[in-house]
Amino acid sequence: MAEKTLFQKIADGEIPSDMVYEDDRCIAFRDIHPHAPVHILVVPRKPIPSLDDLVDDDRELVGHLFLVAKQIAAQEGLDNGYRTVFNCGKEGQQTVPHLHLHLIGGRQLRWPPG
Ligand code: AMP
Repeated sequence: MAEKTLFQKIADGEIPSDMVYEDDRCIAFRDIHPHAPVHILVVPRKPIPSLDDLVDDDRELVGHLFLVAKQIAAQEGLDNGYRTVFNCGKEGQQTVPHLHLHLIGGRQLRWPPG
């Protein structure tokens, strides 16, 4: 069996996290190095390595991640807006090879992100 990813270990409670949401398909917890007052990762329980590895069967799951992000944004009081990001691969600066949606907000964000 493949070794668990860092985020699978968090989902299984083997590594502590500041969890803000969980259901049967995903978890969401605060990023350990936040880039904004609110920085939360929405992570599918299914260990999909990256956006590049998505398959047709994952359509519903990806939609679910965005709906959960929207719900958490409301919970966190991000009434003035926020950003959601999937980093992908080396040039996208993905560092954890388990798909995750960043939810970032609570301050004025800039564009382009650099
Ligand atoms: P990425 O660079 O898009 O792969 O994002 C990975 C994110 O995971 C980074 O923002 C890290 O700060 C965050 N991270 C890494 N380890 C942990 C952890 N143990 N708990 C919470 N967030 C983490």
